[in-house]
Amino acid sequence: MQNNEDILHNIAVIQQRIANACKKANRNINEVKLLLATKTVPPEKIKIAFESGLNLIGENKVQEVKAKYDALKNTPHQSHFIGHLQSNKIKDLLKYNVNCIQTIDSFSLAEKLHQRLLSTQQKIDILIQVNTSAEESKFGVAPENAIALIKQIATLETLQIKGLMTIGLFSAELTKVRICFKMLKNLQQTIIQEKIPNVQMQELSMGMSGDVEIAIEEGATIIRVGTAIFGKRIYADSYYWDETKDK
Ligand SMILES: *Cc1c(COP(=O)(O)O)cnc(C)c1O
Repeated sequence: MQNNEDILHNIAVIQQRIANACKKANRNINEVKLLLATKTVPPEKIKIAFESGLNLIGENKVQEVKAKYDALKNTPHQSHFIGHLQSNKIKDLLKYNVNCIQTIDSFSLAEKLHQRLLSTQQKIDILIQVNTSAEESKFGVAPENAIALIKQIATLETLQIKGLMTIGLFSAELTKVRICFKMLKNLQQTIIQEKIPNVQMQELSMGMSGDVEIAIEEGATIIRVGTAIFGKRIYADSYYWDETKDK
């Protein structure tokens, strides 16, 4: 874990990378939000990042959302859920003012979330997680099934679809990573043309520490960065992507 000065320095570096990538891609820097991927990061370190003006975090596990909630609740920020969500944790997650769940990938999960929100008369923003790297991950709807799923979920009035999310391929081969991001962008464009009622498609959440530039070039509006700001984590990422693997 990085010390406080490192964190602030790393944020400045990432912001410069974002600025450079936006310039190269001819995009307005205000179109790209930097989400802090804060799994394993303690609240004190997250608050250091907030001091630099950032205010969007993403957690992978409900118990981490819960554990950090009190320490962070008095510092204004937005929080997204970016891990695989188990339906038996929905009720718990909704206690902690999460602004967006980025990982909805099935109708049964959406429906359970909807039922819970109905009972408390709440609405929530969601992104549809798409598996753009096929063999690499078991989470996310297959691209060819995404439109049908979105049409179904759009009928659930408590869920406000705002766009798409993908994790992309884990590879040093950036051309392959780029293919994943292009796929998400193309899907977004196709969905926009479908003009599905109750569906907005402005957000594309894609890109992490290693591929921020490519993601921005391909149209990301939310990039999710952990390691490049907070340093390396001890557990493999697959551990954090799978809510069934409890600590
Ligand atoms: C951990 C995580 C990230 C950030 O990855 P880094 O390589 O640490 O920047 C982004 N998205 C998701 C879903 C994650 O779990």
